[in-house]
Amino acid sequence: MRLIAGNAEQKLLDRLLDACKERGWVKARGKQRTNSTHILAAIRTLNRLEVIGETLRAALNALATVAPEWLQAWVPPVWFERYGRAVDEYRLPKGVEARKVYAETIGTDGMQLLAALWSDPTPIALRQLSVVETLRQTWVHQFYVSEGQVQLRAAKDLPPAGERMDSPYDPDARYGNKRSTTWTGYKVHLTETCDENQVHLITHVITTHAHQADVAQTEPIHVALQAKALLPEQHIVDAGFVDANLIVTSQKHYGVELIGPVRPNVSWQAKTPGAYDISQFQVHWQTKQVTCPQGQKSQQWNPAVDAWGNHVINVRFSRSQCRQCTSRPLCTRAKTDPREITLRPQAEYQALQVVRQQQTTQAWQQTYNQRAGIEGTLSQGINAFGLRRSRYRGLAKTRLQHLLTSTAMNFVAWCPGCKVSLMPKHGLLALPR
Ligand code: SF4
Repeated sequence: MRLIAGNAEQKLLDRLLDACKERGWVKARGKQRTNSTHILAAIRTLNRLEVIGETLRAALNALATVAPEWLQAWVPPVWFERYGRAVDEYRLPKGVEARKVYAETIGTDGMQLLAALWSDPTPIALRQLSVVETLRQTWVHQFYVSEGQVQLRAAKDLPPAGERMDSPYDPDARYGNKRSTTWTGYKVHLTETCDENQVHLITHVITTHAHQADVAQTEPIHVALQAKALLPEQHIVDAGFVDANLIVTSQKHYGVELIGPVRPNVSWQAKTPGAYDISQFQVHWQTKQVTCPQGQKSQQWNPAVDAWGNHVINVRFSRSQCRQCTSRPLCTRAKTDPREITLRPQAEYQALQVVRQQQTTQAWQQTYNQRAGIEGTLSQGINAFGLRRSRYRGLAKTRLQHLLTSTAMNFVAWCPGCKVSLMPKHGLLALPR
């Protein structure tokens, strides 16, 4: 706790890296690779009914500890029976309607507690308890009031999963999914060196909420490595960490070549032999015009921002020219509208074209193959160091655990003759005497 309070969590890993730097075992401008894995929070996974029941129970338990007289003065006796035991699925009512009634009973009780907390002369300190804030936020997410009745929100009206609290016992833990894996907790991103004939050392660790996208961590990793004077020349990552903007800005701001597969062109034109996909259009950036494969010039060039916040340029050809075009079936499936294409800004567009071409070559594939080694490091962390499950509650302590674990993994990688005894069941590190 003192390490967290003093903002000193990083110190142990950084000291070890400094010692390795002095000995030439780790250096800037080499190759590094990054990947993430899911971390299970140190809590029981709860379903929606359990979340609301346990959130109210946790608030009542906290208030019973800090203000027992205040609570006893007004709390209905039936609540002792209703919230005296853990809210467990096997004790919950069966059937959709019965469960809805039960949820709304809890919702009404919670609303009554919040009203009592926000009424005079209740001490303000009670409503400032973190567990009360969790109750307040969870009730905003889960319920609404209609004609004086507390109603459970329909699933479609809930906030995104990443914004909801999934347990009052670890409000930082979030629901996440990656491909077919779903979990409640966190995500850890490990970055390590991967130069040939060098020991591979973890240079940076980021722990995030489970729902946060990998692509959002690429720049923070570069910022952190720059601060440690450990920026690589090549940073090898999977597709989740790459986009056109990052390819450009990594090189421009950090001198880092970001190596990872970019999304292929998935338009029907790109998948149809002979059809006119975007690569067959000539873009004239100076004159802000595009020439199509039939030699026609575009009529409109409109900068915009797409649904994901990316700057794009919407290009539109002439309706009359496209209508008369004999190659129209190869170009557009629109019934009457002309061909439209969407471009990224010049630097990003050109970078995407270059990478799409490069990633078809054997040389690029050989470089990219080095990324796979990070899976072994993550596996070692999970099997030998208990990385998969958080030992603590909360993002700050989970982050500290990951920093200490990474330091220990570096120590094992760096220490000549040091061997780890793998004990997956207990996640213990055993060093030979
Ligand atoms: S449909 Fe329009 S944009 Fe496409 S090739 Fe024909 S003239 Fe060019």
